[in-house]
Amino acid sequence: MKISLECYLLTALTALGLGVVQGAQSQGCGSDARALWQQGDYTQAVPLLRDCLNQPYGREPEVFYMLGVSYCELGQQQYGKCCLRWLLERFDLPTQTRRIVDSLVADCGTSLSVTASLRVTGVTISAGVSWVGAGSHGETKSFYNVEDPLRRSFVDSLVVVHNVAESELHGRLRNIADGPTPPDSIVAAFPAHPNVQYSPHFRFIDFRNLYVDATRRELYFETMMQCFVRLYKVPLPEHYISVYIAPDSRQFQDIALKVHGLAFPARTLGYSFQDDASVVGITGGEQSSYGTLMHELCHLLVRTNFGDIPPWLDEGLAALYEVSERVGSDSLLGGRNPWRENVLSKYWAVRAPLSELVTMDWPKFKGDADSTGIRQAVNEAEARYFMFYLQEIGKLSAVYSTIQAMQVSSSQNFDSLNQLQASAISTVVGQSMPQVDSSFASWYSTLTGFETSDPTSKSMER
Ligand SMILES: [Zn+2]
Repeated sequence: MKISLECYLLTALTALGLGVVQGAQSQGCGSDARALWQQGDYTQAVPLLRDCLNQPYGREPEVFYMLGVSYCELGQQQYGKCCLRWLLERFDLPTQTRRIVDSLVADCGTSLSVTASLRVTGVTISAGVSWVGAGSHGETKSFYNVEDPLRRSFVDSLVVVHNVAESELHGRLRNIADGPTPPDSIVAAFPAHPNVQYSPHFRFIDFRNLYVDATRRELYFETMMQCFVRLYKVPLPEHYISVYIAPDSRQFQDIALKVHGLAFPARTLGYSFQDDASVVGITGGEQSSYGTLMHELCHLLVRTNFGDIPPWLDEGLAALYEVSERVGSDSLLGGRNPWRENVLSKYWAVRAPLSELVTMDWPKFKGDADSTGIRQAVNEAEARYFMFYLQEIGKLSAVYSTIQAMQVSSSQNFDSLNQLQASAISTVVGQSMPQVDSSFASWYSTLTGFETSDPTSKSMER
């Protein structure tokens, strides 16, 4: 089998804003492992690749890909297949890449010939949210129009207008130890002259032409950071995280194009980009929330040590903090989110049981087989409220760390790697998954007043 693989991964998630990420390659796994692998020296490459999994930003698709191929070539087919299946289940791969990896699993052990590498730039997108009325801003005033037949088209139409070199992206990173620096050429490229201010871990490039309560803004972002350090063991960044704040869609598109060479579908609210450690989002007036930016920041932060985070946890957590309240310097508590709640209540009868939700890979979670977009919206809303439930029973960070600690090697006896997750959650919560599901339903009913019933899989294909 001869494979030429040159993949540019753009992962389209749907939720609120966009998320993204990654330039993982130079921040994370070293180039030595890649060079050895490309030379076919799998024996030498494997220990370096395994080490990558423990490095910041190291748990990325390319590492699992190279590990999988290496093990297959070294005659350790079972482990090679596990790595490749992990790649399929834990990452949002484009269809073409998915097919290639599928065929590698099938052919593992038959002398693969693999050329080129999997280039990964993860962009997680949250679109599909529209503002209610011009001039209305903030998460709580936006909604998921799950019946909008156009919705799918924007999710898929992100365009890379021009590639920004990795060296340029990394060149933008500024060491926190060096303190604030004068505006760089990126900021200078905007005639709108954004206001640039620093907090201990963030650089705010704010395009809103209004009075901004910088203290309130700083408190919210720094609290999010400390909350993630405390609950999810995210390391404090060495570089400032750049936060581009746009007042409207026009400015947002201008930033995306000039800073990252990207053109987004209409109604996209935000994204994050790992290579230059930035989040970009639309936020309205001074009193509006930073919900979209919190969502994107969550995607960015978790990827420092959990690049292979499964979809229900990644999107559920990001969505939880969209609407959250600051309760001290290192704590944010997610609260109710009306538009997610509307989606979940409306489609409660066709939601996936939790045991199924937590075994979904990205295509399933995103409802790729569902052209209406409803499946994805329901999955995201359910994941969000499941995280809310875990927060309320004090198990959220324990579930996160348990899933995070899972290793490829622990998965060999399972038909689906993700089935491990269901049993892990069950252990942490202390109930069987059906019991967890029923407790979750009761809690949701009490919280919202909505009459819940048992989920059924009959009415809609999941
Ligand atoms: Zn998201």
